[in-house]
Amino acid sequence: MTLTSEDAIGTTTAAQPAGLRLVVVGAGAAGSLVLLHLARHLARGAAGAPGAPRVEVVVLDPNGPVNGAAFCTTDDRHLLNVPASGMSVDAEDRFDFVAWLVGEGVLEEGASPYFFAPRAQWARYLRSRLDDALAAAADRLAVRHVADAVAGVARVGEGVQVTTAGGEAVEADQLVLATGLPSVGDDWVPTGGAAALAGHQRYVADPWRPGALDAVVRGDGDVLVVGTGLTMVDVAVSVAGSGDGDRRVVALSRAGRLPQPHAASYLGEVVPDVSTWGDSLDELRDAAVRHLRDVEGTQGDWRPAVDGLRYRVAELWGRLDDADRARFLREVVGDWGVRRHRMPPTTAEAVDVAVAAGRLEVAAGRVVAVETTGDGFVVETVDGRRVRAAWVVNCTGPRSDIRTLGNPVLDALLGADGSPALATTDPLGLGLTTVDGQLVDPTGALQPVWTLGALRRGELWETTAVPEIRTQAERLAGDLAAVAVARPTRQRGSSAGR
Ligand SMILES: Cc1cc2nc3c(=O)[nH]c(=O)nc-3n(C[C@H](O)[C@H](O)[C@H](O)COP(=O)(O)OP(=O)(O)OC[C@H]3O[C@@H](n4cnc5c(N)ncnc54)[C@H](O)[C@@H]3O)c2cc1C
Repeated sequence: MTLTSEDAIGTTTAAQPAGLRLVVVGAGAAGSLVLLHLARHLARGAAGAPGAPRVEVVVLDPNGPVNGAAFCTTDDRHLLNVPASGMSVDAEDRFDFVAWLVGEGVLEEGASPYFFAPRAQWARYLRSRLDDALAAAADRLAVRHVADAVAGVARVGEGVQVTTAGGEAVEADQLVLATGLPSVGDDWVPTGGAAALAGHQRYVADPWRPGALDAVVRGDGDVLVVGTGLTMVDVAVSVAGSGDGDRRVVALSRAGRLPQPHAASYLGEVVPDVSTWGDSLDELRDAAVRHLRDVEGTQGDWRPAVDGLRYRVAELWGRLDDADRARFLREVVGDWGVRRHRMPPTTAEAVDVAVAAGRLEVAAGRVVAVETTGDGFVVETVDGRRVRAAWVVNCTGPRSDIRTLGNPVLDALLGADGSPALATTDPLGLGLTTVDGQLVDPTGALQPVWTLGALRRGELWETTAVPEIRTQAERLAGDLAAVAVARPTRQRGSSAGR
């Protein structure tokens, strides 16, 4: 999609009555998938029938479409961690992304769909499918993109009003909050270290910001990465993946564990029957370990067990009480994460090459001090090791409690800014409380605000990747299309979201 600020996405027909006004906050993967599925709903079915109301959408995001945490990268070595066959925009049309890759000449006709495409290619794919869907629904759907962040949300009458950082107020009947992963945590920064790092031009506090890693990759000198998950792997393959050159990456985390690699070829998924697994963390963990062992015993690999278990995570998570959920976060999430969020095979090879060449070191270590030097930093770990680095990159992943982010949108929704609360969270603050994605306020009343993806972690846990988000987006779009049909027609001439 070639849209810029204030561009209209799609067109409208003046003769049509104005209908539902929708605001979508966040034009990343989730917000774009909602728009795509809404457009498809409107282009067919009751919402697309003659006389059906038009839907007017304002999309607010300082970044362009599909330019969020995972998909803002332009480095083609940054690959999807889900095979192409799992990344179609439509869960029912499994090979659509594969077909697009073939059409673009990225993949040969007949090649295995077990292919890990560059993430930048997937962003192009989603933009192109979104453009097609919007064009097909052009007489039903008008979309305007405002390149600004939302800074406030309030209830106005039956609808909502959002205020942007730049001071624009936009009213809508319904709002979709698609703001992605909570911001990156910095709990690892030791007392006294914050002052050394704050504002330092060689410290990358948020590697998911578009362009955040460019200076590190183009620059010189060694890199210290805090965190050893998939974001660290992005940094490592960009800086040291070729094995050539003399720059080193040292990656530290408490356990010093890398994500596991995906298998070299597709091994399938074994979805377990979890009906007898129990409902305490200990019971579920034991049963999950048995499932992995059984599958490894019969198939020679544990991966199909993990990939099948993924479909049962939301159900199992729903069985845990709050104490067990908290314990899962303390004791199990690391073990699960390295098996569930795996590296593509070619990425794993690049990591191996870099390690063998001495250009990547992955180690266990807790940072206890950070000092600046003339050309970078000296970082000291708890065991007394001192690592010199020209750059420090924070890859410790999202924070867990959304009540403590200082995010103005969430604070407004939760009433933390003194305004009436439109939302509440689960007791651990992992996400917003919803009924199938629609926000529930502290009195239990449904609000005209919807969310999907990471902000549903508290109720689903497994909700941050495209295979889950696309299904939520499709359902949410159907719900919004139904709201549009059910609404009395707005007066002709009322403007889109102003
Ligand atoms: C490094 C990395 C790699 C990943 N790789 C994969 C993968 O290969 N496959 C996969 O399925 N998943 C992957 N994921 C998971 C990934 O988070 C999701 O697939 C996807 O990006 C989630 O989409 P989203 O729209 O929820 O978030 P994002 O794509 O991050 O989009 C959120 C958008 O909201 C905007 N926003 C935030 N706050 C505001 C505000 N106040 N006002 C306006 N706009 C706002 C942001 O600018 C952003 O554009 C990866 C994640 C990371 C971090």
